[in-house]
Amino acid sequence: MRPTGPRSPARLLLAAGAVAALVCALLPLGALRDGVYALVCWGSVAAVVVGIRRNRPREPAAWWLVAAGVASWGLGDLTWDVVADVLHGDPFPSAADVFYLLAYPLLAAGLWRFVRARTDGRDRDGLIDSAVFTVGVGLLMWVFLVQPALGDTGATPLARVVAAAYPVGDVLLLALLVRLLTTGGARDTAFRLLAAAGALSLLADSAFQLLSLDGGDGGRLLDAVWLVAYTCYGAAALHPSMRCMTDRQPRTGVIVGRARLVALTAASLLSPATQVLQLALGLRLTGWAVALSSVALFLLVVWRMSGLVAHLQQQAAQLAALARTDTLTGLANRRSGDAELARMQVRARQDGTPLSLAVLDLDRFKVFNDTFGHQAGDRLLTEAAAAWKRRLRGTGALLVRWGGEEFTVLLPGHDLEDAAALVEQLSAVTPAGQTFSAGVARWDGEEDPAELTARADRALYRAKAAGRSRVLTAAAPPGPRPPDPVVPTTTA
Ligand code: GH3
Ligand code: MG
Ligand code: MG
Repeated sequence: MRPTGPRSPARLLLAAGAVAALVCALLPLGALRDGVYALVCWGSVAAVVVGIRRNRPREPAAWWLVAAGVASWGLGDLTWDVVADVLHGDPFPSAADVFYLLAYPLLAAGLWRFVRARTDGRDRDGLIDSAVFTVGVGLLMWVFLVQPALGDTGATPLARVVAAAYPVGDVLLLALLVRLLTTGGARDTAFRLLAAAGALSLLADSAFQLLSLDGGDGGRLLDAVWLVAYTCYGAAALHPSMRCMTDRQPRTGVIVGRARLVALTAASLLSPATQVLQLALGLRLTGWAVALSSVALFLLVVWRMSGLVAHLQQQAAQLAALARTDTLTGLANRRSGDAELARMQVRARQDGTPLSLAVLDLDRFKVFNDTFGHQAGDRLLTEAAAAWKRRLRGTGALLVRWGGEEFTVLLPGHDLEDAAALVEQLSAVTPAGQTFSAGVARWDGEEDPAELTARADRALYRAKAAGRSRVLTAAAPPGPRPPDPVVPTTTA
């Protein structure tokens, strides 16, 4: 067992990161502070590498990309310090931005590999949900970060484009982070640390960009947040549960959970909310961005809904089939037999064709069970059902498991003799030398299903009494029925 207790490497790194973040938040700007900052950043890169070597994940490439992303940030910091302190130049925009910006696609590619490994590329719902979220938050980033950066008249064109590239990178990272969060399955320590790292760096980035639009830089506090984010990346890789990050996760049966529904609703409302916010603050409206994102959100929601509807229809069809079917034999069950009999009666009356019904009961089945066991009894029931069904194919008859070892055969188009002859033929195909007794009745055109079945059942009872293993026919019901009394209607 690897240590996961209080002294585990992941915990030690997190503790060191927290102390360093505190130091960075308190120390004045200077070489010492830069040193502590660089130490934590490169320490986290080293932690990811050590984590890959120790834990040997199945898909190390995802983790190498994470290491490369954090290293790219470290190189950005280094370049920034060199440009500012050694060359005494303006670090923004400079080569430092190349490294800072490169970190986004590297981390996004790493997260994408986690997502792909966890879902096998088969999670359309998760994809749509994260798209909804990304479009909603992306609009906010566009309106409040990208557009102001592009429109900053005090900056050179290059500085404007570079400043705008940061929130674009953040949206990319956000998309992949949300996509990772929408994958199902275990949320181990490594998963939570990785998610926290992504969320913290996005938070610090957005805050930094907002503040720098106002000429500030967020100062030491944001540096502390970034440091905690770096150590979270490192600790995630150091933790033994990092190996499960790239495991294929089982799909849950939940179509859409309550928390996700709330998040999706909120995200879909971000587009009109942005407009409302702009109106309330007296800001210039960004018509195109809001309109396009509204269209995108609407289409995504409809797409998601169509998936839900298809899923529900499929489930309803499965349930309906289950409700009609007997589990053991796969035959129509009693509920479905009753419904079919009622339908057949209507058709027989309309077409003037005969309709008969047989009730079958296996002989001395209790003895069979007691002798060979209940499982052998089940097997015999299944085999008999299959054999009878084969024999009845093409005759228009429907075999129903009525319950236990009793079956009914609905025989539309068969008169009494036909029906009895057909049921007689079933005994030849009944497996294991098993016999059955049966009673057959022809519908008189008036009886309800229960009366018809009761008449066939009485014939079955006589067959049993007469020594079993035989098919007896039921006599027609006594006499014509009196017509329903006519209630005279009076009109006022
Ligand atoms: P009879 O000739 O009078 O019909 O004798 P019997 O033993 O078949 O008597 P009855 O029809 O009353 O008994 C039904 C027996 O069928 C009772 C039970 O052991 C067995 N049985 C009913 N349903 C099942 C089932 O799903 N699986 C198995 N293995 N046995 C069943
Ligand atoms: Mg019985
Ligand atoms: Mg029986």
